[in-house]
Amino acid sequence: MSNTSLGQVLVVDDDPVLITVIEAFLLDGRAEVVHTAQNGVEATKKLVQLAKKLDFIFCDLNMPDMDGLQFLRQVSNFNYTGPMAIISGEDRSILSLATKLAASLDLNLASAISKPLNFDELDHVIAGARGQIYKPITNPVEKVSEQRLRTALAEQEFTAFYQPKIETSSGRLIGVEALARWKCPNDGWIRPDQFIPVAEKSDLIVELTRNIISVVAGHAGHWHEIGPDFGISINLSANVLSDIDLPNDIEAEFTGNNLDFSKFTFELTESQLLRQNTNTLETLARLSLKGFKLSIDDFGTGFANLEMIRDFPFSELKLDRSFISRATSDISARASAEACIELGKKLDMILVAEGIEKVEDWSFCLERDVDHLQGFLIAKPMPVEDLRKWIPVYNAKAAHLARAVLAMGDLQSKEQSRQNNVA
Ligand code: C2E
Ligand code: CA
Ligand code: CA
Repeated sequence: MSNTSLGQVLVVDDDPVLITVIEAFLLDGRAEVVHTAQNGVEATKKLVQLAKKLDFIFCDLNMPDMDGLQFLRQVSNFNYTGPMAIISGEDRSILSLATKLAASLDLNLASAISKPLNFDELDHVIAGARGQIYKPITNPVEKVSEQRLRTALAEQEFTAFYQPKIETSSGRLIGVEALARWKCPNDGWIRPDQFIPVAEKSDLIVELTRNIISVVAGHAGHWHEIGPDFGISINLSANVLSDIDLPNDIEAEFTGNNLDFSKFTFELTESQLLRQNTNTLETLARLSLKGFKLSIDDFGTGFANLEMIRDFPFSELKLDRSFISRATSDISARASAEACIELGKKLDMILVAEGIEKVEDWSFCLERDVDHLQGFLIAKPMPVEDLRKWIPVYNAKAAHLARAVLAMGDLQSKEQSRQNNVA
């Protein structure tokens, strides 16, 4: 077992979709082996075989033939003393009853998690089980001074993590987005919202962007091995676009690494697009002429007008995660998401939804023909070496996962029409 993931985990739930989703989530670097059972009897058999080897058990409460409360007794009978969590769609009072039962049986109940699943909550429970709740940097903005950033750049402490993107309809992996990460010798990994704003206030953003582009180009060997259809997106700040040498420099670096420009997309946020000047437009046009693709990021949060989007060679719109993640629970977020999707379709753009955390989010995008997805449900950003290990594991289950989402969408629409008929 590596020091960053759990070893063997048992997931017990009668819902095959949920099992597939939790299994995929755990195998994404959080567990080495995942055993599954769809009812208490099957789960008890697994307990008999594995009790001493298991590191964690996730268990539903409401299952046919043996409910979760009976299963808790079995867990105690078979002397499993490791951590476990109940996952249930029952109301809080039942969860609280189950918690009391687990305590009376001396079980090590790490958490009682309500459905629908929240992946941050799951991650927190897993991190707790590993005894390594991540310590966030306290007041990072104060800590990251321009000087510190300058030194870190000189020391080459920046790299790129990659977050997978998939095709909504098939689940097929289509590419990644490169996201800057700072490996600080004292504070560990620092995320971009803690240093990009500081860099953007100075000229450091230009050096930082060039640095990330070089890191991505330097991973060319990986891109060649993954295959010719794999796309890579890179973020740009508007300030960087005033550097009119940038397109030629990128061209030289990418040509040197034998990279196909048409597989690379540069993302610019909608709000940055509004701060354009003549140089920005020229640089964007030149990148496009060279064969790179352009994407509008965080779409829906700025107020770019139609002409601006139409007149520029953007081929992709990324719907902002703030309303995608709330679209299934909040009417106004859903209306914003739908309006952006409609607009993107009218403009014939490729639509990408970010912030997909729940199966329901995927299902929402599938029903509305959003082309591509990105989010923690599929995978978090990771170093290139982890990506290479993750790809075959994901590919083996991509089609199954997409079918499970499709089945869930069908179930939901049947339930909806049943409710409509009753009403
Ligand atoms: P972004 O371009 O919108 O990137 C997506 C961000 O959303 C990433 O955060 C990613 O980790 C996060 N994310 C993806 N899926 C989910 C999800 O399902 N749930 C949640 N809660 N978050 C999700 P990250 O890596 O912290 O990057 C933050 C922002 O920093 C980026 O937002 C981008 O605007 C900026 N950034 C990152 N790398 C660079 C870079 O190399 N250059 C520039 N100029 N900006 C960068
Ligand atoms: Ca982006
Ligand atoms: Ca975004």
